[in-house]
Amino acid sequence: MSGKVSNKRGKDPFCDPGNIMKQAYYETKYTYVLYNLYPVIKGHTLIIPKRHVSDLESLTRPEAVDMIDTIRYVTPKLLKIYKADSSYNLVAQIGPYSGRSQEHLHIHIIPRNKYDMYRDYNDRLYEDLRKYELKRIAIHKIEPEVEKLRKVFKYKLGPR
Ligand SMILES: [Zn+2]
Repeated sequence: MSGKVSNKRGKDPFCDPGNIMKQAYYETKYTYVLYNLYPVIKGHTLIIPKRHVSDLESLTRPEAVDMIDTIRYVTPKLLKIYKADSSYNLVAQIGPYSGRSQEHLHIHIIPRNKYDMYRDYNDRLYEDLRKYELKRIAIHKIEPEVEKLRKVFKYKLGPR
Protein backbone atom coordinates (compact mmCIF):
# COMPACT_ATOMS: atom_id res chain seq x y z
CA MET A 1 0.00 0.00 0.00
CA SER A 2 2.92 2.36 -0.38
CA GLY A 3 2.15 4.98 -2.91
CA LYS A 4 4.93 4.58 -5.39
CA VAL A 5 2.74 5.84 -8.18
CA SER A 6 4.07 8.64 -10.29
CA ASN A 7 2.07 11.82 -10.39
CA LYS A 8 2.60 14.30 -13.17
CA ARG A 9 1.79 17.16 -10.83
CA GLY A 10 4.79 16.23 -8.72
CA LYS A 11 4.77 15.14 -5.13
CA ASP A 12 1.54 13.50 -4.03
CA PRO A 13 0.76 14.78 -0.52
CA PHE A 14 -1.61 11.91 0.20
CA CYS A 15 1.03 9.25 -0.45
CA ASP A 16 3.54 11.12 1.71
CA PRO A 17 3.86 9.57 5.21
CA GLY A 18 5.07 12.93 6.53
CA ASN A 19 1.75 14.53 5.67
CA ILE A 20 -0.21 11.60 7.08
CA MET A 21 1.72 11.96 10.37
CA LYS A 22 0.86 15.63 10.49
CA GLN A 23 -2.77 15.52 9.40
CA ALA A 24 -4.32 12.14 10.27
CA TYR A 25 -6.72 11.99 13.18
CA TYR A 26 -8.37 8.68 12.44
CA GLU A 27 -7.86 5.69 10.18
CA THR A 28 -9.43 2.38 9.29
CA LYS A 29 -8.08 -0.56 7.35
CA TYR A 30 -8.40 1.21 3.98
CA THR A 31 -9.02 4.85 4.78
CA TYR A 32 -7.33 7.86 6.35
CA VAL A 33 -9.13 10.82 7.87
CA LEU A 34 -7.04 13.96 7.57
CA TYR A 35 -7.40 17.52 8.75
CA ASN A 36 -7.06 19.69 5.66
CA LEU A 37 -3.80 21.67 5.52
CA TYR A 38 -5.69 24.60 3.99
CA PRO A 39 -9.04 24.61 5.78
CA VAL A 40 -11.76 26.95 4.57
CA ILE A 41 -13.68 26.45 7.83
CA LYS A 42 -12.74 24.89 11.16
CA GLY A 43 -13.08 21.14 11.04
CA HIS A 44 -12.47 20.90 7.28
CA THR A 45 -11.61 17.25 6.81
CA LEU A 46 -10.46 15.02 3.99
CA ILE A 47 -11.31 11.35 3.59
CA ILE A 48 -8.79 9.51 1.43
CA PRO A 49 -8.19 5.89 0.50
CA LYS A 50 -4.81 4.61 1.71
CA ARG A 51 -4.17 3.17 -1.72
CA HIS A 52 -3.44 5.61 -4.50
CA VAL A 53 -6.42 5.76 -6.81
CA SER A 54 -7.80 8.75 -8.66
CA ASP A 55 -11.51 7.94 -8.82
CA LEU A 56 -14.26 6.12 -6.95
CA GLU A 57 -14.55 3.46 -9.62
CA SER A 58 -10.97 2.33 -9.03
CA LEU A 59 -11.66 1.45 -5.41
CA THR A 60 -12.33 -2.19 -4.62
CA ARG A 61 -15.76 -2.76 -3.14
CA PRO A 62 -14.36 -3.22 0.41
CA GLU A 63 -12.38 0.03 0.03
CA ALA A 64 -15.43 1.90 -1.24
CA VAL A 65 -17.67 0.60 1.54
CA ASP A 66 -14.99 1.45 4.10
CA MET A 67 -14.67 4.98 2.73
CA ILE A 68 -18.41 5.65 2.94
CA ASP A 69 -18.69 4.01 6.36
CA THR A 70 -15.81 6.19 7.56
CA ILE A 71 -17.59 9.32 6.35
CA ARG A 72 -20.72 8.15 8.17
CA TYR A 73 -18.76 7.50 11.36
CA VAL A 74 -16.69 10.69 11.38
CA THR A 75 -19.24 13.26 10.23
CA PRO A 76 -21.66 13.26 13.21
CA LYS A 77 -18.75 13.65 15.65
CA LEU A 78 -17.29 16.42 13.54
CA LEU A 79 -20.61 18.25 13.39
CA LYS A 80 -20.93 18.07 17.16
CA ILE A 81 -17.39 19.31 17.81
CA TYR A 82 -17.66 22.20 15.38
CA LYS A 83 -21.25 23.08 16.28
CA ALA A 84 -22.45 22.47 12.78
CA ASP A 85 -26.18 22.45 12.78
CA SER A 86 -26.83 19.12 11.00
CA SER A 87 -25.17 20.69 7.99
CA TYR A 88 -22.10 19.93 5.97
CA ASN A 89 -20.78 19.92 2.44
CA LEU A 90 -19.31 16.78 0.94
CA VAL A 91 -17.13 17.74 -1.99
CA ALA A 92 -15.31 15.51 -4.44
CA GLN A 93 -13.52 16.70 -7.54
CA ILE A 94 -12.68 13.79 -9.76
CA GLY A 95 -10.91 13.85 -13.09
CA PRO A 96 -8.55 16.32 -14.74
CA TYR A 97 -11.26 18.87 -15.62
CA SER A 98 -13.05 18.89 -12.26
CA GLY A 99 -10.93 21.57 -10.62
CA ARG A 100 -9.23 19.04 -8.39
CA SER A 101 -5.90 20.02 -6.86
CA GLN A 102 -4.64 16.50 -6.21
CA GLU A 103 -5.06 13.38 -8.27
CA HIS A 104 -5.26 11.08 -5.23
CA LEU A 105 -8.99 10.59 -4.53
CA HIS A 106 -10.17 12.75 -1.63
CA ILE A 107 -13.58 13.73 -0.35
CA HIS A 108 -13.91 16.95 1.64
CA ILE A 109 -16.20 17.14 4.67
CA ILE A 110 -16.93 20.76 5.52
CA PRO A 111 -19.04 21.37 8.63
CA ARG A 112 -21.52 24.22 8.19
CA ASN A 113 -23.72 26.26 10.45
CA LYS A 114 -25.93 29.29 10.23
CA TYR A 115 -23.23 31.63 11.52
CA ASP A 116 -20.46 30.63 9.15
CA MET A 117 -18.99 33.02 6.62
CA TYR A 118 -20.37 31.12 3.64
CA ARG A 119 -23.96 31.19 4.83
CA ASP A 120 -25.11 33.54 2.09
CA TYR A 121 -22.23 32.81 -0.26
CA ASN A 122 -22.25 29.09 -0.82
CA ASP A 123 -20.58 29.33 -4.21
CA ARG A 124 -17.64 31.15 -2.66
CA LEU A 125 -16.86 28.09 -0.58
CA TYR A 126 -15.97 26.22 -3.76
CA GLU A 127 -13.84 29.08 -5.02
CA ASP A 128 -12.02 29.27 -1.70
CA LEU A 129 -11.39 25.53 -1.64
CA ARG A 130 -9.26 25.90 -4.72
CA LYS A 131 -7.78 29.30 -3.92
CA TYR A 132 -6.63 28.39 -0.41
CA GLU A 133 -4.99 25.24 -1.67
CA LEU A 134 -3.23 26.89 -4.61
CA LYS A 135 -2.05 29.81 -2.50
CA ARG A 136 -1.42 27.66 0.58
CA ILE A 137 -3.63 29.78 2.78
CA ALA A 138 -4.40 28.42 6.24
CA ILE A 139 -6.97 30.44 8.15
CA HIS A 140 -5.96 28.81 11.42
CA LYS A 141 -3.22 26.56 12.77
CA ILE A 142 -4.14 22.96 12.13
CA GLU A 143 -2.00 21.36 14.88
CA PRO A 144 -4.33 22.18 17.81
CA GLU A 145 -7.33 20.90 15.84
CA VAL A 146 -5.53 17.68 14.91
CA GLU A 147 -4.55 17.16 18.56
CA LYS A 148 -8.11 17.77 19.73
CA LEU A 149 -9.58 15.41 17.14
CA ARG A 150 -7.03 12.68 17.87
CA LYS A 151 -8.21 12.73 21.48
CA VAL A 152 -11.87 12.55 20.48
CA PHE A 153 -11.19 9.68 18.08
CA LYS A 154 -8.72 8.02 20.50
CA TYR A 155 -6.25 7.88 17.67
CA LYS A 156 -2.58 7.17 17.90
CA LEU A 157 -0.43 6.79 14.83
CA GLY A 158 0.94 3.28 14.74
CA PRO A 159 4.27 2.21 13.27
CA ARG A 160 4.35 2.56 9.52
ZN1 LIG B 1 -1.46 9.10 -3.84
